[in-house]
Amino acid sequence: MPKKAKDLIFVVQKHQARNLHYDFRLEADGVLKSWAVPKGPSMLSREKRLAMQTEDHPFPYKDFEGVIPSGYGAGTVLTWDEGTYLPVSGSLEEGRFKFLLNGSRLKGQFVLFRFDRAGENAWILQMLSGSEIPDVISKYQRSVKSGRTIEEIAVQKDLGNKKILFQPKGRKAA
Ligand code: MN
Repeated sequence: MPKKAKDLIFVVQKHQARNLHYDFRLEADGVLKSWAVPKGPSMLSREKRLAMQTEDHPFPYKDFEGVIPSGYGAGTVLTWDEGTYLPVSGSLEEGRFKFLLNGSRLKGQFVLFRFDRAGENAWILQMLSGSEIPDVISKYQRSVKSGRTIEEIAVQKDLGNKKILFQPKGRKAA
């Protein structure tokens, strides 16, 4: 009997750093594989989103929401979406990975594939099938976790979760 795969998690963190972006993170091999998506994910299958791969983050970082005071990633982090995903085909190693997202907001089949023309860390994130919803980034402004806006988080700061801040060695703010 095949072993039932355990649920893998994903999270999308809206990150108001020097430049606003959305960090898309997939649990894999015990860490969070991470991409910075400048425009955020789209739920229109015709829209491709540039996703720049960044450092793997420690798994507990999925729960971080608050203010990074200085250093790497300085700025405000809002949990824009969270949920689970199921691998469908391909793999990150192969540079093309299809998966089924089951988040509060993002639902449907998505793909990440390498987009070498834009650099070695460049990927495309695209919804392949699911409910077509225009402009989800504008539609959902509040945290799925706390209901707060990014401005409210910036004022209220963290909810006691400073310990899971992540500072990669030898990196400047990004
Ligand atoms: Mn970020």
